[in-house]
Amino acid sequence: MEFEPVIGLEVHAQLKTKTKIFCSCSTQFGAPPNTHTCPVCLGMPGVLPVLNRKVVEYTLRMAMATHCEINPESRFARKNYFYPDLPKGYQISQYELPIARNGWIRIDTNGSRKRIGINRIHMEEDAGKLIHSPDRPVSMVDFNRTGVPLIEIVSEPDIRSPEEAGAYLRQLRSIVRYLNVCDGNLEEGSFRCDANISIRPAGTEALGTRTELKNLNSFRYVEKALHYEIIRQKEILLEGGEIVQETRLWDTEKNRSFSMRGKEEAHDYRYFPDPDLLPLVVDKQWIAAVQKSLPELPEARKLRFTADYGLPAYDAELLTADRDLADFFETCLQAFADPKQVSNWIMGPLLALLNAGHLSAAQSPVSPGQLAELLKLIDTGTVSAKIAKTVFEQMAATGKPPAVIVEEKGLVQVSDSGAIETLVDKVLDAHPAEVAAYRGGKPKLIGFFVGQVMKETRGKANPQVVNRILKDRLDR
Ligand code: ADP
Ligand code: MG
Ligand code: ZN
Repeated sequence: MEFEPVIGLEVHAQLKTKTKIFCSCSTQFGAPPNTHTCPVCLGMPGVLPVLNRKVVEYTLRMAMATHCEINPESRFARKNYFYPDLPKGYQISQYELPIARNGWIRIDTNGSRKRIGINRIHMEEDAGKLIHSPDRPVSMVDFNRTGVPLIEIVSEPDIRSPEEAGAYLRQLRSIVRYLNVCDGNLEEGSFRCDANISIRPAGTEALGTRTELKNLNSFRYVEKALHYEIIRQKEILLEGGEIVQETRLWDTEKNRSFSMRGKEEAHDYRYFPDPDLLPLVVDKQWIAAVQKSLPELPEARKLRFTADYGLPAYDAELLTADRDLADFFETCLQAFADPKQVSNWIMGPLLALLNAGHLSAAQSPVSPGQLAELLKLIDTGTVSAKIAKTVFEQMAATGKPPAVIVEEKGLVQVSDSGAIETLVDKVLDAHPAEVAAYRGGKPKLIGFFVGQVMKETRGKANPQVVNRILKDRLDR
């Protein structure tokens, strides 16, 4: 029997506001434990939360970028549970009336485009962090993260494969980064994903019983854990068993998931409207102002890159997935108007350089203007494409402009026929046997002669000119 996977993702994105959602403590990451705390985020009795306006603004940006309807009035609710990292005994979240509903984003997998529905986006506060001591039987709590703003983005169960799940997450991450509302880092936990998955006989409509997968802190783990879970569920169903609705933890060492706990239900949390917070009213002017402030988003930019610059879809996808990289491309293009050439240099040498140093395009040691200058030097024949790679490495290492490096290192391409003729003669004189062999019917030896001339000039001779002169001499 054929089975079809049904997947829905819940993503928690940490918002990049300066202060927490209900108090003015800093959200800065990496401070000494418990230094960014106050009576509000520590949950002392009698304190009152005050909503951070920026949190709402960032959430609205994300909601509009994902085509959601905005609820003019939404509510905060208390989600009650006990855990040592939650001093109040409840998390302030949104439940019945979230700020946004019914959106979608588009994903591309293997060339086919598809919409994935977004059921809701709501705001909530993060919990603290437990640190388990490696050498003593104790756990410690750091409340710096308590009250850091999160948005939860809940997809519809529209995803049909682990690859689609990966594509959805990448697209979502690209959008939060374009909007500058979240840094989208899975490894550091500022962008976290829980995956809900069930399977059903192909061609049927009813949803099967699902499990929820946690601890998926990289795109690779998300896809691996889903593949594993599809096989696990299939085996159970084929043996006539039943899927247990539960939460499972992905074990990155053992490459399998383990049951963590039975799935909790909403009523376990005794949700109720938070009496300390007024309903949140978002008026039309605010919505309009946020709408106007939205930047061009990755999908639109990608389409523009193929339409306006004639780039292949592959190039456009890669360049626009990251806003800084797309900006780099367009700035470079302003000074050197050959899109494919600029794209090749960005996707090749530039990305290699950035990846090696774990740098974003905005931190590139070679500026877009400098790359454009280098491309001009190739275009005018001042340096060969091969030498340009060396120049590029020098630019990255020294920060000097390409023309200066070419000058200092004497890398100017030799295109002067006179100079090359002399070298060609020298090479031919030094290799009479090869010359005879060439003339006797081994035309491939031309490569050998070109190589010798290049060696003489340390790669600086213009290969076209060398070829022309060699042929001229050898064929006469
Ligand atoms: P919960 O209250 O447990 O968080 P939700 O109804 O909010 O449950 O759904 C959470 C996620 O699970 C959503 O992304 C949704 O699309 C997905 N989901 C719900 N039912 C199923 C199912 N049967 N199979 C796969 N995914 C599902
Ligand atoms: Mg949920
Ligand atoms: Zn605080």
